[in-house]
Amino acid sequence: MLNLVLFGPPGAGKGTQSAKLLEKYGLHHISTGDMFRGHIKQQTELGQQVSQIIADGKLVPDSITIAMLEEEIKNNPQAKGFIFDGFPRTVAQAEALDDSLKSIGSEITGVIALDVDEAELTQRIAKRQEISGRADDAADKLTKRIEEYFNKTIKVLPFYEKQGKLTKVSGVGSIDGIFNELTQVIDNY
Ligand code: AMP
Repeated sequence: MLNLVLFGPPGAGKGTQSAKLLEKYGLHHISTGDMFRGHIKQQTELGQQVSQIIADGKLVPDSITIAMLEEEIKNNPQAKGFIFDGFPRTVAQAEALDDSLKSIGSEITGVIALDVDEAELTQRIAKRQEISGRADDAADKLTKRIEEYFNKTIKVLPFYEKQGKLTKVSGVGSIDGIFNELTQVIDNY
């Protein structure tokens, strides 16, 4: 199995690059952000539980996020591999992901972190909000999301670095140029 984590702050291009990687490598995409937005849209119980948290730009509690993720892995036993986009965002989530993949006889192949500075991120998300209309892309919520990233999510990087699984790639440049760099890393796994 090829199991990739695409890592990076909000606006780094994880969604854009995941879409291209899925197509090339035939992987199953797991975006916890997309899953939560789906639940909110369908007004499920889970959606009701998380909608205010997401609207505020805070992280959803690990217990909820991990349970949803584990179910998605279990529901896709035929997958050739997974691309995790926006997960894990805490060390507890990273540990749970390792356990979950272990239970199906697999593991994370590699983690690619897209590097983008904060000024560029703020600019990109302002543009994205004009198109997506995502409430959590609004400036005040975005500040909270970036804060959550630098306070909690960044700690996931040393977790994977210790395992020798982390590669950093610049997330600034053309979409195709960044994609080429990602494929070079993946083809070397
Ligand atoms: P995203 O589309 O990945 O930027 O996620 C949008 C929002 O969903 C985040 O700001 C969080 O509120 C929530 N979320 C998505 N993934 C996670 C995660 N792995 N852990 C906690 N909250 C998450």
